[in-house]
Amino acid sequence: MIGGAYGVTCCGAAKLFAAPGMKAPTLSQALPVRWQPDRAPKATPWPVPSLASAMARGFAGRCPACGTTRLFCGYLRVVDACGACGAPLGELRADDAPPYFTIAIVGHIIILGMLMLEKAASPPLWVHAAIWLPLTTILSLTLLRPIKGATVGLMLKLGMFKSDTDG
Ligand SMILES: [Zn+2]
Repeated sequence: MIGGAYGVTCCGAAKLFAAPGMKAPTLSQALPVRWQPDRAPKATPWPVPSLASAMARGFAGRCPACGTTRLFCGYLRVVDACGACGAPLGELRADDAPPYFTIAIVGHIIILGMLMLEKAASPPLWVHAAIWLPLTTILSLTLLRPIKGATVGLMLKLGMFKSDTDG
């Protein structure tokens, strides 16, 4: 125990007071140690690749951690855990982020194409509908799965795991 106390004098300056018969502590001994979060990356049993590899592996539909097994066990259902490295991929809940990214990307492609066609040829509305409605559907359904994979890769890199028992 450090003998003494930390106080503030009448003029506001910090001053250390020594208990009788004890040496006054230095300022660094008297002040409490400030809490710091543990910023060291946590060791995981599965490999954690770079952000670009994790997202590229997810985009290709493979486990973002090891890249050897499949990421999906349905159109959009993520496997519970990787069979090769054991990464708990089912705990990476992408929720509505992949549809959001898909809408943003497909919307930009379709609107740009629509405006360019209108400016170049001004076709009747039924031609626009016949081109852009099916193209929107096909592009959305094609891109949703790889975008979800890339999102799961991003979440693995960021350690955004959430199990069913978490609130
Ligand atoms: Zn794996």
